[in-house]
Amino acid sequence: MIIVSITGPLMSDALGQVAASKRYADMFELRLDLIRQPDLVALLSASRVPVIATCRMRKEGGSFRGSERERILLLDLASVLGAEYVDIEFSAGPELFNRYLRRIRRPRVILSAHFVNSVPPAVSTLFRRMDPCGADVLKIAYAAEDATDIRHAVEFTSLAVKGKRKAIAIGMGDAGEASRVLYKKLGGWGTYASAEKGEGSAPGQIKASVLRRLYQADRRTTSTEVYGVIGRPLGQSKGIYLHNPIFQRRGKDAVYCRFPVTDLAGFMRHIAPHLQGFSVTIPHKQTIMHYLDEVDESAAEIGAVNTVVRRRGRLFGTNTDGIGALDAIEGVGRVKGKRILILGAGGAARAIAYEARKRGAEVFVWNRTSKKARALAGELNVQAVSTSGLPRLQFDILANATPVGMTPDTGVSPATGEILSGRIVFDAVYNPPVTKLLRDAASVGATVVQGTEMYINQAARQSELYTGRKPSLRVMKRLLDSGG
Ligand code: NAP
Repeated sequence: MIIVSITGPLMSDALGQVAASKRYADMFELRLDLIRQPDLVALLSASRVPVIATCRMRKEGGSFRGSERERILLLDLASVLGAEYVDIEFSAGPELFNRYLRRIRRPRVILSAHFVNSVPPAVSTLFRRMDPCGADVLKIAYAAEDATDIRHAVEFTSLAVKGKRKAIAIGMGDAGEASRVLYKKLGGWGTYASAEKGEGSAPGQIKASVLRRLYQADRRTTSTEVYGVIGRPLGQSKGIYLHNPIFQRRGKDAVYCRFPVTDLAGFMRHIAPHLQGFSVTIPHKQTIMHYLDEVDESAAEIGAVNTVVRRRGRLFGTNTDGIGALDAIEGVGRVKGKRILILGAGGAARAIAYEARKRGAEVFVWNRTSKKARALAGELNVQAVSTSGLPRLQFDILANATPVGMTPDTGVSPATGEILSGRIVFDAVYNPPVTKLLRDAASVGATVVQGTEMYINQAARQSELYTGRKPSLRVMKRLLDSGG
């Protein structure tokens, strides 16, 4: 069940939300606490699919300002007019939910428990208390601070599956996003979605069309393979727009989700065992290595992993960043025998330096913290350049591997002027696709290579590791252009 929350606030907004999302909704939830002066007859007749009437009290995260008596009257009216379900808070007590459960011709009851600012204290105890109440569906919604917190949704739905109960378990907020995408995989009965982006009834709600089309959440089964990206922040991450359509084109029963993770140890213990593979981004590219059974030679030398796959139960790490960058640069000219200057000494710089050296380039590294450049140079057998040595350095290719020029600071550049003239200039920054560095370089006659090329190349290699086949770069580029 993909349940679209109708939130108003005006009746005209609510009717617009019903109309905009009815193709994607298995059910509608009418949030009677959020819609001003709800016209139940109009809403129920526009709905055309089963309806849940919800009038959430404030202490459970809702906005209803009237009395408890008025709240019950509204729910009663919705039920008499044809709402198939009423949502009753567990904290409202047995008197209220029994009022519905004991009727002969009764609506179905969703018994819900909300933890607006925290995770549920003890899921199994909560489930054992909710289970005997006789409700048709048991629901929990809680604030997920970290993707690791999805484990509470996993526990709740697995208890429901064992007890043959219908359940909804949602980790709210961006960190809980995967609990919404994976509801069916986890054995849940339904999940909530918004009609439009930003119009949902709870933080982190995904637009219904995205849930159904991009994630195909309603088609998932317990055997669906789960992939994703781990890191933080993930707001800019575009992987979901590339990997999900590729899985669908391949006919692979798999889904790719965002997992905003700070607590890497907790994630590896509780969530990673459910995953078949994942991309790794800042800040976990180095630390992830402690949790893997094996890393390949390139990742070991680079000292960072950006891709993990499960092979025969063992976690294997590799790094596709360097290959991605060098394939992009070699799209405009071979690097063998050329001198390449890399700006930065972080994860991307290390990967680019490793791969450039492997392909026969002479590699120079500059970093604002020169100690880090010297350490990188020593470990990867390339040369460090000091700030004072930069003006005299002869080079053919410039590669920016610092975040300078990235959104929101798009007006700055790590290098300007004539030193760019006649060179190949590559920028690892891909947001925006054309940075100030690339604009300046093009204006003095340099050949420019965008970070999006690197992004597509490294994602294509990841896709090959996830699916066994390399996707067409043209298709990846189209997906990236249309994504987000
Ligand atoms: P990282 O490990 O955090 O390293 C960042 C590097 O940039 C460090 O050497 C840092 O210098 C330097 N730096 C940071 N701010 C700077 C500033 N204001 N001025 C000068 N130097 C600065 O990050 P990373 O993973 O290597 O990523 C670097 C960039 O590459 C990011 O913009 C990222 O989005 C991009 N990237 C792109 C792709 C792609 O597919 N296109 C893939 C990976 C990364 P210190 O050592 O002095 O702190």
